Amino acid sequence: MYLPELLTPVWRVKGTGGKTGKTAERLGNLGIFAVRDILMHLPRDYDDRTRHIPFAAAAGNGGKFNTTAYVQGHDSFYARGRQTLKLILKDESALAEVPLYGWDPSSNASKYSPGTRLDIAGTLSVSYGGKFQCAKADMEAAGTHPELFSRVLPVYNLTAGIAQKTMRRIIRSAYGEFGSHLEDEIPAAVREAEGIPGLSAALKAVHEPVSMQEAAAGRRALAFRELFLMQMAVARRALQRKAAVRPGRTYPRGMQEKLIKSLPFRLTQDQAACMEELRGDIEADHPMARLLQGDVGSGKTLVAFLAALLFTEAGRQTAIMAPTELLARQHADNAARFLQPLGVRLAFFSGALSGKTRKPALEALKAGDIDIVIGTHALFSDDVEFRDLGFVIIDEQHRFGVVQRNRLFAKGLYPDILVMSATPIPQTLALSAFGDMDVSTIKTMPAGRKPVETHLALEGRERKVYDFVRGELERGRQAYFVYPIIEEAEAREKDAPTTGLKDAESMYRRLKEEIYPGFSVGLIHSRLAEDEKRDIMAKFSSGEIRVLAATSVVEVGVDVANASCMVIEHAERFGLAALHQLRGRVGRGSLQSYAFLVYAPDYTEVAKKRLTIMKETTDGFRIAEEDLLLRGPGDLTGIRQAGLLDFSAARLPFDQELMMRARAAVHGILEKDPGLLAPQHSCLRDAPGKAPNAGDLRV
Ligand code: ADP
Ligand code: MG
Repeated sequence: MYLPELLTPVWRVKGTGGKTGKTAERLGNLGIFAVRDILMHLPRDYDDRTRHIPFAAAAGNGGKFNTTAYVQGHDSFYARGRQTLKLILKDESALAEVPLYGWDPSSNASKYSPGTRLDIAGTLSVSYGGKFQCAKADMEAAGTHPELFSRVLPVYNLTAGIAQKTMRRIIRSAYGEFGSHLEDEIPAAVREAEGIPGLSAALKAVHEPVSMQEAAAGRRALAFRELFLMQMAVARRALQRKAAVRPGRTYPRGMQEKLIKSLPFRLTQDQAACMEELRGDIEADHPMARLLQGDVGSGKTLVAFLAALLFTEAGRQTAIMAPTELLARQHADNAARFLQPLGVRLAFFSGALSGKTRKPALEALKAGDIDIVIGTHALFSDDVEFRDLGFVIIDEQHRFGVVQRNRLFAKGLYPDILVMSATPIPQTLALSAFGDMDVSTIKTMPAGRKPVETHLALEGRERKVYDFVRGELERGRQAYFVYPIIEEAEAREKDAPTTGLKDAESMYRRLKEEIYPGFSVGLIHSRLAEDEKRDIMAKFSSGEIRVLAATSVVEVGVDVANASCMVIEHAERFGLAALHQLRGRVGRGSLQSYAFLVYAPDYTEVAKKRLTIMKETTDGFRIAEEDLLLRGPGDLTGIRQAGLLDFSAARLPFDQELMMRARAAVHGILEKDPGLLAPQHSCLRDAPGKAPNAGDLRV
């Protein structure tokens, strides 16, 4: 049995109280439904109780101790409105006070009568008077619970109603019943070469380690397994793609050259190089799968348009897909500006198209009367047919998944696929998530771009920011003001204790009536209807609206070169990626531009670091790396939500080296045995589920 096949519901595990018990339902809150989930619910930490640490040595051990003491006496103190019992314990090194909340001093504490010897382990602090205080501890009659005081204890993430003890017990029993003789997907030869134990041994090492070293080795083995399976899935997809052979051909470049000549600027060196890489792919004898990454404003869209022209000239069709209507509309506007003059026949295809307009558009597409169609995922509905779809451009990879791609394949289409990412993906992740794609990167910005000047301002001093922005407005420029929430009511719901959080709606009114009465102010957020949003963006683009109050809807892709100021209020509440994207909305022309990050005084340490990084650098790749490091191994939320990586044991970017090893091992196998036909590889061929997120990987 392979781990992914352990779909037995978790309530079958002994100690969960069965189908009608509450435990299984509570585990569901942690995403644990099946036995395989609970086995992969890995400890978030360990409590090393293999050593004896007396009270007096706790300070040198992060406050943790593990000792045997006797009850010297009782005391009482006032807590939570009542008199409460306190034990005075003494071990060989010192005295410590242990409050027993819920115990009345007059209660018969015979379990803790003076002289009783207790095993106790927990965390100490030193009180104001210099006494050792112990608020949280495991405490049992000496010698009665060796499992609590002489082992490495796993510490799990919990949910309401499930105690640490319960979680440990359930996982132990799940392992005993189901986890101790699992088949391993990783071939034995690879495991030997890597010096890692088999899956069952690794699970035991992680959940019931005898030492911290063993726990670490177990985690490493599980991480290797995840990375290996993921790299295997990625590499096999790459092989499949390369196996889809077609005759290579040369495409005429007349239209491409015409567009380049008509531009009011020169392509940057990187743009030209990427354009050539794309042409190489397009003319090659197997379909393209390429990621074009570059910071916001680096000119990716133009490169994609240039590639599309090769197809147009050859009489083949291109589909450009954006994640939102707003962005699709913007691509359509740009296409109209750059491509229409060349005679390219464009169409905009939105989910909002009514039957009446949709039908003729569908027919034109099918007849080949449209060269380039631009839209949202509505482009890939079942009723959309192309005459000859040669090229698919996807802006922002995150929402175009395997599902859409398979839908194309099911239609018998194997177009070249170009994914554009304005979210710089750190190298580590690019390799793991897009390992089957070729990557082109635009590093340099178009000439004449001045880096955005970034200033931090503590709330209370934003007047100065407003005044500076007024100066820019008076010189004819435009400004964005971004807020974390749409309206005040939302603040109350989400964040009851924090009042005074500025919201887009009330700040829109203040900006309009109080701060910039002489300028036209607009408001945009996600709750507006698509056509309202479009209307407001059009007015901002044309300069009719000069100041735009917004939420992070303006984050991606919005392109107004005359906007020179980006003011983000409550910047402490935005993640690094969002801050970077928002800042990327300015500095898109040759104007000197400014970003003001206004932060409230109640920021966290991490928030402060984020702001400092934003001030220090405008390099999107550095910001992305820092972002990963700041968010730490346990929390890749954004990326995880995007469905890119969903590991239990592996921690990127910290496990980068391990990933490279896994990748090398995968390539070693596939080079000799691309079909995984050898008997020693049957474990890979037959294992279900493959990588934990294989079905979820993009493109
Ligand atoms: P991206 O898609 O990478 O965010 P865009 O393609 O939207 O960037 O380009 C941003 C702006 O820069 C657009 O207005 C575009 O016309 C312009 N642009 C693109 N390439 C150049 C260049 N080589 N020189 C000057 N401006 C450019
Ligand atoms: Mg863009």
